Amino acid sequence: MALKLGLVGIGKIARDQHIPALSGDPRFELVACASRNARVDGVANFPDVATMLAEVPALDAISICTPPQAHFDAALAALRAGKHVMLEKPPAATTRQIGLLQAEAARHGRTLFQTWHSRFAGGVDAARDWLKGRTLTGGTITWKEDVHHWHPGQQWIFDAGGLGVFDPGINALSVLTEVLAEEAVVHKAVLEFPENQQAPIAAQLDLRTESGVRIDADFDFRQKGEQTWDVELVTTTGRLRLSHGGGALEIDGQPVAADDALAGEYPRLYARFAELCAAGRSEVDWRPFQLVADAFLIGERRTVAAHHV
Ligand code: NAP
Repeated sequence: MALKLGLVGIGKIARDQHIPALSGDPRFELVACASRNARVDGVANFPDVATMLAEVPALDAISICTPPQAHFDAALAALRAGKHVMLEKPPAATTRQIGLLQAEAARHGRTLFQTWHSRFAGGVDAARDWLKGRTLTGGTITWKEDVHHWHPGQQWIFDAGGLGVFDPGINALSVLTEVLAEEAVVHKAVLEFPENQQAPIAAQLDLRTESGVRIDADFDFRQKGEQTWDVELVTTTGRLRLSHGGGALEIDGQPVAADDALAGEYPRLYARFAELCAAGRSEVDWRPFQLVADAFLIGERRTVAAHHV
């Protein structure tokens, strides 16, 4: 029996990735959507989650694609109504909200799948396996994209809680925390805030692993021309380069895994969600979000030119 699913927040990622992935997955049936302004053809549409939950009691699961500021209330309502929940990244507006959602899922015996889609890119598993047992000596993350191209008209990203350049940057941190054999902390950070916005447009992090190895991260939303989503890690016995957001992997300059256009990320996410629901398990890892929160806590703040979405 397919899980009856309700999709919440019909915007760019819902249309680009979630709806196509769901339409190709027989384990799910998209039956309802909740969005204040958007509608999806062929399913029941509601203006908010509460109305959707009340009007379609047969729903088994909810997938939340709103910006992070709106995740907590929607996820809490769905878990309390006995639904499984899948959450887009970034997982919430504050770190404490994630802990509360995790506890609520356990209380109701439901699945909370707090996703990191970049971990499902084609090169990531092979990178983690290659790094096991190797000695890291350094690393760089370069995550630079044009916000006007990838997030057209999205003011929420520069509002309080929108995370600014950490909205994509957190994907790099999700990959890093997945492939590293040890933990990393934020040692220093510089955050560049446009003078008219509440969230940074660029950030530089100096991360350190538990054994003191330095990994520099450079996040920038002002990139024109070539877009870069790369993680490079150097060990005593070779170096790896994950590019295209984790979709391609090179070891010592030789390609070893590739996943063109990241086509597989969202089908793999829904496959994992179905497995978790069937097994009655949750998957939650808020370390990437903690690193972002820590960058906001200790980061030096610089004011830069105004940015208009
Ligand atoms: P989006 O195009 O702005 O769509 C989000 C939708 O959520 C909006 O259209 C809006 O629909 C609804 N919404 C509910 N509460 C909202 C609020 N307080 N502020 C703004 N919109 C609200 O954004 P998106 O690009 O799809 O991103 C949504 C989430 O997916 C983010 O967490 C993002 O990090 C993640 N994501 C995005 C991408 C990407 O390439 N864009 C990739 C991977 C993950 P209604 O007005 O109809 O309610």
